[in-house]
Amino acid sequence: MTFTKPSRFFWLLSVTLLITTLLWVGANHEVLLSNRLWPWRGPSQLVALWSASFVTLALLAIVRSSAMEFLFGGLDQAVLLHRKLGLAALITQVAHAVVLTIHFITHGIPIALSLKPTLSNDRTPDIIFLYALIALGFLAYDRRMQYERWIKLHRLIGLLFVAGTIHASTLNGVTHHFEPLRTWIVILLLISISAWLYQVLLFRKFGPRYQYRVVSVTQRGKDIVDVLLRPTVKRMMYLPGTFVFISVPSFNGKTRELHPFSLSSTPTERDLRVSCKQVGDFTQQLPTLHPANSDDIKFVDVYGPFGNFTPHRFAPYRRMIWIGAGIGITPFLSMIAFERSNRDFRRVWLYYSVRAPEDGIYDAEIKENIERADSLIDYTLWVSSTQGRLSAAQVVADIELDDYAVMLCGTKAFVAGMAAEFSALGLASERIITEELQFR
Ligand SMILES: Cc1cc2nc3c(=O)[nH]c(=O)nc-3n(C[C@H](O)[C@H](O)[C@H](O)COP(=O)(O)OP(=O)(O)OC[C@H]3O[C@@H](n4cnc5c(N)ncnc54)[C@H](O)[C@@H]3O)c2cc1C
Repeated sequence: MTFTKPSRFFWLLSVTLLITTLLWVGANHEVLLSNRLWPWRGPSQLVALWSASFVTLALLAIVRSSAMEFLFGGLDQAVLLHRKLGLAALITQVAHAVVLTIHFITHGIPIALSLKPTLSNDRTPDIIFLYALIALGFLAYDRRMQYERWIKLHRLIGLLFVAGTIHASTLNGVTHHFEPLRTWIVILLLISISAWLYQVLLFRKFGPRYQYRVVSVTQRGKDIVDVLLRPTVKRMMYLPGTFVFISVPSFNGKTRELHPFSLSSTPTERDLRVSCKQVGDFTQQLPTLHPANSDDIKFVDVYGPFGNFTPHRFAPYRRMIWIGAGIGITPFLSMIAFERSNRDFRRVWLYYSVRAPEDGIYDAEIKENIERADSLIDYTLWVSSTQGRLSAAQVVADIELDDYAVMLCGTKAFVAGMAAEFSALGLASERIITEELQFR
């Protein structure tokens, strides 16, 4: 059995929940063993406090600050943790309401006090927050919702959680009777509010922003464009495989939209490139950035770099399998281009998985870069329409080694499926490095 070293996030979550629980014990130490707390009242308090802890960490995870990335293993991984923490916050909030209602029933207290919002009920704001959270929580799983609307909905959910915690902490409950617990809740609230404000209001102005101008927009195949950008003042330094948020001030109605894209250029070059699949309204508008003449300069704001999906954060792994599916090849394009100059020899097996031969848009570019690469790279263009689905077993059979790490990039379904297959083959989880090209 292999022992996986706990991540920083594991410690962060454990310590946060431990402090919350110990302070709750401190607040109740006089009645800890009495039936005033058990079996329902105490647990209902505790899950509500855990919910506040989950919310704080969920908001902190997506704060889009490179300084915070080390806690969560990169912003891309932080978003995955945010999903789980948000769900945990919602479930514990519902558990709080259910357990409190059972407590009311068993003590002959009208359940309307925990479930029905009325003017005379001082729990009314809590009840409304809960119903609103449940409704918005369901909506958040609606796949048909436009991405920008979905983002706004999430911001509202975060705000509701924070408002609910503020209100709950003003009630004459467990936090009121024990100053250390009250202070802790205030700290959690301050972190949550700051994270929310930074993410929603301050990031555009104070985030790591670089202004670039558009040099060219090149259509690659039927639905992919390469956008080449040149710094106007300051050049952004980045590691290959990381990603940025792009915002285009001149896009009508989309001036505030921030879209994540992996960089597909090498950091050694002055110009920066993103390679974008045209899936919706923002990406379909990208060709209009094409400079009609030399006076027609279009500007783009680039925020970043973010993410942990770079081999240079995993220096001990000298044998790596890189698999990019479809547009998931973009971070590997950057890594391969960087291989021309990095003097950091590794043994690499690169798979570019596409549906049909004509989808292998970057095949020639990859081959050209590999010829000049420092590392020894075996490259396979995998065409699933003729070769079937690429499997982990197939890849491992190709390389005939067991001391390797794998980097996977593509859709959520592709990454999850491949990661599960490598895991089933016995590869330790810390050797499976993933990036999903979607945040929802
Ligand atoms: C870390 C990261 C790196 C990425 N790198 C690249 C890249 O190198 N090249 C590339 O083409 N794409 C990349 N993407 C995806 C890219 O951000 C979206 O395709 C783009 O923002 C779509 O915008 P749109 O307005 O054109 O589409 P929309 O109209 O917003 O959406 C069209 C469809 O795409 C889905 N979608 C839209 N935006 C996103 C998003 N940000 N995350 C998940 N699903 C979304 C929607 O649910 C909808 O189904 C990356 C995403 C992430 C999270």
